[in-house]
Amino acid sequence: MDEQASALDEARRLAPRFAARAAASDRDGSFPADDFADLRESGFFGLMVPAALGGAGAGFLRYANIAYELARGNGATALVFNMHASVTGALAGVTDGLADALGLPPEALAARDDHLKAAASGSWYAVAMSERGAGSRLSQMTTSYQNVDGGYRITGAKTFCSGAGYADAYLIAARSVTDPTQVSQFLVPAGDGLTVEETWDALGMRATGSHDLHIDVTVPASALLGGLEGLALVAAQLSPHWMVASYAAVYVGVARAAVDAAVEHVNARKLGGLPAIRARIGRADAAVAAAHLAVREAARRVDESPGDPETNRWVWRAKLLAGTTAAEVAASMLEAAGTSAMRRGHPLERLYRDARAGSLQPATSDVCADWLGVDALGGDPDSDGVAPRW
Ligand SMILES: Cc1cc2nc3c(=O)[nH]c(=O)nc-3n(C[C@H](O)[C@H](O)[C@H](O)COP(=O)(O)OP(=O)(O)OC[C@H]3O[C@@H](n4cnc5c(N)ncnc54)[C@H](O)[C@@H]3O)c2cc1C
Repeated sequence: MDEQASALDEARRLAPRFAARAAASDRDGSFPADDFADLRESGFFGLMVPAALGGAGAGFLRYANIAYELARGNGATALVFNMHASVTGALAGVTDGLADALGLPPEALAARDDHLKAAASGSWYAVAMSERGAGSRLSQMTTSYQNVDGGYRITGAKTFCSGAGYADAYLIAARSVTDPTQVSQFLVPAGDGLTVEETWDALGMRATGSHDLHIDVTVPASALLGGLEGLALVAAQLSPHWMVASYAAVYVGVARAAVDAAVEHVNARKLGGLPAIRARIGRADAAVAAAHLAVREAARRVDESPGDPETNRWVWRAKLLAGTTAAEVAASMLEAAGTSAMRRGHPLERLYRDARAGSLQPATSDVCADWLGVDALGGDPDSDGVAPRW
């Protein structure tokens, strides 16, 4: 995937294959393993990996364009892939300059390169951050770690871990037993010490397999990302685009798929002459196009001026607009299509449920709106709020 266009073309080629499998994995709540085999085969696990380490070296805008196309096929597949892209994209974002500024040890950079090379060779990573009771707030994590001879022992439990049981390794956030102010992230290989409990039977995004993960594992020191303890919150602040906006492109893709499915349904039933239906489709088309523009604007700015206050504003706007638009558009498209589209197995019935998850996925639409409101009113949106952002 050297050519930028070829990865996008490949995503467009895969999307209809994903769409054809989506109903079955949604119905059974089963992981879309065949989609993931396609992604591996097409080299997508190396998308965010620098070319020097064997990957495609994509930036955030390129990722967002690809995520949108994959999500038009199956939002659940694109969402799980987003977790892998977030891990590899954030690792690739630790440039040598940033590593110097943070004082990261050389062994940590060697470990970073090993993780990225493995991804370019077909390994894929899931994110095990959320916990029952803490959500995704890093500052509230109860999973803990302590130093042991040559490494760390991590114990605890995670929930909503997309791709649990299928990933090659898991990014696990945990709190230090010795110094509870330190929250760190580890990349832990699948295997002994990680046990999946199949708890995910949800309204939407059923095929993400976002199960619980029980952890009692000892890892070598190289598993600590960055090589220094306490970097989890720093990473969230340095890469708000991965923590906040990377799902945005996925949910805009789901919204566009809902419009496409409605158009197909309406045309097949010869309902296109009805003004109310036409207007619903027209409004939905404009809303999705506007949300898509906001996502691309945020992504363009992330590539051009990462961390800039205006970039961050666009990142939070993009997530808010994508999540809200997906839910509203899918609901309207279902209403335009009528009751026959509500039957189990109809694409709109699934897309309606999948789109519903967009606003709930952190940062939730309410949290995004609060962040933007504090900012607009002249406060510091990262620290002024009724609850910690992370
Ligand atoms: C399809 C899907 C896949 C997911 N995959 C993963 C995954 O792979 N890995 C992973 O770690 N997690 C994943 N998540 C979990 C997701 O990150 C959780 O939604 C998250 O942990 C939040 O949990 P919660 O919604 O239960 O609770 P909370 O975060 O506690 O939210 C509850 C309510 O409180 C509000 N709220 C929360 N914080 C604030 C605040 N600071 N200010 C104001 N209001 C606030 C929210 O808006 C919401 O209304 C996934 C979620 C979904 C829907």
